Amino acid sequence: MQDCIFCKIAKHELPAKILYEDDQVIAFNDIDPKAPTHLLVIPKRHITTLNDLEEGDEALVGRLQVTAAKLAKELGFAEAGYRVVMNCNEDGGQTVWHIHMHVLAGRSLTWPPG
Ligand code: 5GP
Ligand code: ZN
Repeated sequence: MQDCIFCKIAKHELPAKILYEDDQVIAFNDIDPKAPTHLLVIPKRHITTLNDLEEGDEALVGRLQVTAAKLAKELGFAEAGYRVVMNCNEDGGQTVWHIHMHVLAGRSLTWPPG
């Protein structure tokens, strides 16, 4: 998708601190971290919001979650704990229109979110 910053990161056209990549997903540090560790795991394919997921996308969404769990172990915060969040549309707080899984760790996170 033209002008999508996350598509550009996925294609290595914009810089990011990439932590993991395969043929379907890529994980990188959030540019404005909301916790000591704040990663984003995204599909390489452009999907605008969670509402645009279709039948057949189950494995892709699962891969996002499995990638988050793998990185949590590799980066050493799996045991302490972490939070995964996917925001959808205005009320969900979405600001980048390419779906992404936030992975937040490194401090005690409050609940409920604001
Ligand atoms: P949202 O509000 O859509 O759930 O989350 C978007 C996230 O993308 C925010 O946490 C924001 O800091 C991050 N972000 C926005 N632009 C960039 C960018 O150019 N590079 C990286 N690495 N993160 C970005
Ligand atoms: Zn995109």
